[in-house]
Amino acid sequence: MSLYRKSLAELAAGLHTKQFSSVEVTQHFLDRIAKHDKTLNSFVSITAEQALAQAKQADAQLAKGSMAALTGVPLAQKDIFCTQGVKTSCGSKMLDNFIAPYDATVVSKCKQAGLVMLGKLNMDEFAMGSSNETSYYGPVKNPWDTTRVPGGSSGGSAAAVAARLTPAATGTDTGGSIRQPAALCNLTGLKPTYGLVSRWGMIAFASSLDQAGPITQTAEDAALLLNTMVGFDDKDSTSLNRPTVNYTASLKDSLQGLRIGLPKEYFAAGLNSDVAKVIETAIAEYKKLGATITDISLPNSHLSVPAYYVIAPAECSSNLSRFDGVRFGYRCNDPKDLNDLYQRSRGEGFGAEVKRRIMIGTYALSAGYYDAYYLKAQKVRRLISDDFKRAFEKVDVIMGPTSPNTAFKLGEHSDDPITMYLCDIYTIAVNLAGLPGMSIPAGFAHNLPVGLQLVGNYFSEAKLLNIAHQYQQVTNWHTQMPKGFE
Ligand code: GLN
Repeated sequence: MSLYRKSLAELAAGLHTKQFSSVEVTQHFLDRIAKHDKTLNSFVSITAEQALAQAKQADAQLAKGSMAALTGVPLAQKDIFCTQGVKTSCGSKMLDNFIAPYDATVVSKCKQAGLVMLGKLNMDEFAMGSSNETSYYGPVKNPWDTTRVPGGSSGGSAAAVAARLTPAATGTDTGGSIRQPAALCNLTGLKPTYGLVSRWGMIAFASSLDQAGPITQTAEDAALLLNTMVGFDDKDSTSLNRPTVNYTASLKDSLQGLRIGLPKEYFAAGLNSDVAKVIETAIAEYKKLGATITDISLPNSHLSVPAYYVIAPAECSSNLSRFDGVRFGYRCNDPKDLNDLYQRSRGEGFGAEVKRRIMIGTYALSAGYYDAYYLKAQKVRRLISDDFKRAFEKVDVIMGPTSPNTAFKLGEHSDDPITMYLCDIYTIAVNLAGLPGMSIPAGFAHNLPVGLQLVGNYFSEAKLLNIAHQYQQVTNWHTQMPKGFE
């Protein structure tokens, strides 16, 4: 089997048994990037030289026998993570010239684990978007149909893994940005419980929602990468100090007696009927694996998108105030005075969607409106969490579609922010509640991938991975590859 067809687990096994070296694997993926990324635009930076140097080091460790589980395996990082000495753009003109002076915790954990970084992946500007069309570096194409979007904001991550330009990638998810692109590109994506993965060095969008996680081919790979990414970090005040879990240990557990809840709100109007059929077939597969199905209700789900579009912009308006033309990134030419410097640097450095969010957020937080919008949205957020709390008294996992539709055409929703925002109708509540969620390949509608979403209770990542892995033992959706990249 060609190297690019292998999962992380298979690459790691081959490296450990010396079937191939890390330099060979790394060069193989660099060659694929050179061949295919002109079509996809999934990478912002390719760090070939550094990758080969890391691969050499990994080979030395493998030769000594002093390796970790993923030593020598390549991966690529979403360009939201600071990488020392390598441009960190966050998909924005504002940071087009920003070279981070340090590594994000996620990046340093990957380095310590011996993973080789192939490069940095394209994304929606400051992670705001559902289609990867807001990037300063241009849209990313979906390898399943290059006239369509890969989803967003981790669109570069999803496109690159789907075309096997990298065996795995990191992503971040504030309202669905790991799960939705994973769904649209036939991949496994996991957003962990809020606080499990350090946000230090991950450029902040909405701090109370942002969480990093893996985008991979299989659930087993997601477990391997999650093992590397998690852990308490005293540099992140919201990082959780929890006992270590080995996420690969329970992958093989039986699903006999698993209680699945199907929220009626996730199968209502707005869901594409062909996507619904795929999801129903996937649920039937789980029944065969021994699960029982219960209909449940998440009565406040219809409030998740409106609450999110107050809270996320409010936090973003505060977080993005640091980009002022003085401390970071872009500065306008020949400013007349300080105000002109601020206004033009921000006016020229940010794209339209980012400006829209900053304005909404600043408005929602302003004196007189704070109670009416921000505080109200926070109260709705609590109602949404309580819905989940009640549901998890009755069921172990909630299932439904990740996205109401398959990948849409580039430009199709560009002039219609509300339709774009509704792409995340099934994913956003999970972030508002801080719960873990996954998307796994479940089949195809109109020849395009469909993702099944799994939502678990707090810290149930090992269970979710087990549920996903068992499904992947009896289905082969996750092994399907887009034509032209096989
Ligand atoms: N699409 C959502 C937004 O635009 C979520 C983005 C994300 O998860 N980073 O805000």
